[in-house]
Amino acid sequence: MGSPIVIAIDGPAGAGKSTVARAVAARLGLGYLDTGAMYRAVTFAALREGVAVHDREEVAELARRVDIVLEDGTVTVDGVDATAAIRTREVTEAVSAVAANSEVRAALVERQRAWVAAHGGGVVEGRDIGSVVFPDARLKLFVTASPRVRAERRVGEIGGDVDEVEAAIIERDRRDSTRADSPLLEADGAVVVDTTGLAVEEVVELILARLG
Ligand code: C5P
Repeated sequence: MGSPIVIAIDGPAGAGKSTVARAVAARLGLGYLDTGAMYRAVTFAALREGVAVHDREEVAELARRVDIVLEDGTVTVDGVDATAAIRTREVTEAVSAVAANSEVRAALVERQRAWVAAHGGGVVEGRDIGSVVFPDARLKLFVTASPRVRAERRVGEIGGDVDEVEAAIIERDRRDSTRADSPLLEADGAVVVDTTGLAVEEVVELILARLG
């Protein structure tokens, strides 16, 4: 029996990772794990419980005990449907501080590996999947696009001002790329896919072709 297939998809905010990861998972009959949703879920729980996101120990303790269920596109945190709430501006602005906490990362990486083991592989999306969580993934992708294009796509989906959204995206990328633990980077052996000017279907085909 071969080892389970893991496809790692990393890249900056709003590059189209989720759409592409979901489509690739569906085509291959694999599960899809959005690890960003897990960091968002811990952030949501902290805000909800009044735990300061910069309180490293309290947030780490929370990350170890909070119940997070990712299923069919919904996110449940301690029994509460948080699917929409984890995408609010408040959570998006606070999540980088939570994600820079090494103990939070250790707790969530353990859960991510357990999820993949339980599902017999999967398409796993995040920032450190190819570099830290699954360095031996069958295929590692670094999906990116220019900040302007990423901001325009986001505004197309949820509205807002392109300049403001672009500035927020650049700032979140800066925090994710400069943190000490598991920064956003192109993992060794990762295939860089620039989605600027490409349709989702074209990106998916390009990825499937890589699998041979
Ligand atoms: O993917 P998404 O934009 O929802 O991720 C939210 C945040 O979670 C990122 O900005 C990053 O700080 C953090 N994250 C991370 N490592 C991952 C996935 C997400 O640090 N594997």
